[in-house]
Amino acid sequence: MSTSRIAGFYNLPLDQRLRKLADAAKLDLADLAAFQENGLPAAQADKMVENAIGTYSLPLGIGLNFIVDGHEVLVPMAIEEPSVIAGASYMAKLARTAGGFTTISSEPEMIGQIQILDVRDLVHASMEIMNHKDELLAEVDAVDPVIKKIGGGARDLEVRIMEDSPIGPFLVVHLIYDVRDAMGANAVNTACEKLAASLEKITGGRVHLRILSNLADRRLVTAHCTIPLNELGFIADDGLIFTGQQVRDGIIEAWAFAAVDPYRAATHNKGIMNGVDAVVIATGNDWRAIEAGAHAYASSSGCYTSLSTWGKDANGDLTGELTMPMAVGIVGGATRVHPAAQAALKLLGVKTASELAGIIASVGLAQNLAALRALATEGIQRGHMSLHARQVAIAAGATGDLIEKIALQMVTEKKVRIDRAEEILQARNK
Ligand code: NAD
Repeated sequence: MSTSRIAGFYNLPLDQRLRKLADAAKLDLADLAAFQENGLPAAQADKMVENAIGTYSLPLGIGLNFIVDGHEVLVPMAIEEPSVIAGASYMAKLARTAGGFTTISSEPEMIGQIQILDVRDLVHASMEIMNHKDELLAEVDAVDPVIKKIGGGARDLEVRIMEDSPIGPFLVVHLIYDVRDAMGANAVNTACEKLAASLEKITGGRVHLRILSNLADRRLVTAHCTIPLNELGFIADDGLIFTGQQVRDGIIEAWAFAAVDPYRAATHNKGIMNGVDAVVIATGNDWRAIEAGAHAYASSSGCYTSLSTWGKDANGDLTGELTMPMAVGIVGGATRVHPAAQAALKLLGVKTASELAGIIASVGLAQNLAALRALATEGIQRGHMSLHARQVAIAAGATGDLIEKIALQMVTEKKVRIDRAEEILQARNK
């Protein structure tokens, strides 16, 4: 890819955007055709879920300006909410002046849980499991020869005694399993199934649940960015001047609120997930798994808190960091069978699940910055309003040029409401 900066992309007609995108990504138009062919044929949907009757579409846009780990990336984002793609792209533009985003991913290790009930001596059984660890790992390692061949497989076992459960104490075994480029749920669930008989024999207990944990806290990704102070200052539409220092400090103060208050942290993290989910969905990944992992991880200190951290470096520049679980795959699940997900992965040009995780975390961090910057300066509503106003105008029945005109009038009047849109529409139609 030459560059993720495509000047004037916003102003191009929709069909020309796809051509421009293919040129920038050095792909054939045919590689991206699925984006404009409803993404998923109904016949394909019928093979994916039960009782299928069709498909349900979301807008798909491109996050521009991203540099992640030195690579220019054009990021497909599937989302219905206005301002998210624009916000992330704008923050990526600010970040690229200092090199963009850098990321670190841990090994793609997932946790499978096996619940063992009716164990007479929990401590003794735990020790017996650990005594048989090597053979148990060897047993499970043979389950998925594909994963094994590419360097993944069983890594470790942990045993936990759950003392205070509502049904009394029981054992839980954690299987640590490297799933390489898969999301890994099926692979891990199959591995846990395989261990059941041996664990019953070793412990004398009864294996009940065998299932992946979505708290993927051994499969973390961290994205980092620095925004130079001179990129942060701006003059608002109404002429109000915000200096770089004011914006930086306002962002840090806004983050500090989320760091100490779960009520604020929930909304703060929702903003991060606006960016994260949009890419997770576009690439055919399981966004419920990512959501569950993110919020469980945000609570892991015992108090729900911000997934990101904002501060300043020795130069006074703004620094941001986001760490969260990222169980995404580039093989398996819907990533392989959804044509638009395939096109999205091709556009991203990722070769491993870790690379995809790094891009997703970078978009989450950019989106977080967009929200904090808006909140700390002009307020979120203002930025949001013009796009929202268009949706309200459409909902009121406006079509063609009238959408823009009614939206503009409502924003100017500061009355972005369906009843006002209907009034303006009626007045114009008289
Ligand atoms: P999968 O079983 O479709 O694909 C993974 C398989 O692909 C591996 O087992 C391996 O045999 C093969 N493979 C080929 N190349 C590979 C590579 N480079 N790296 C790794 N594996 C490779 O999918 P999965 O990732 O095991 O499971 C994901 C699916 O499971 C998602 O659709 C998800 O929605 C679903 N799911 C999720 C949960 C949960 O999150 N709790 C539970 C059940 C199912």
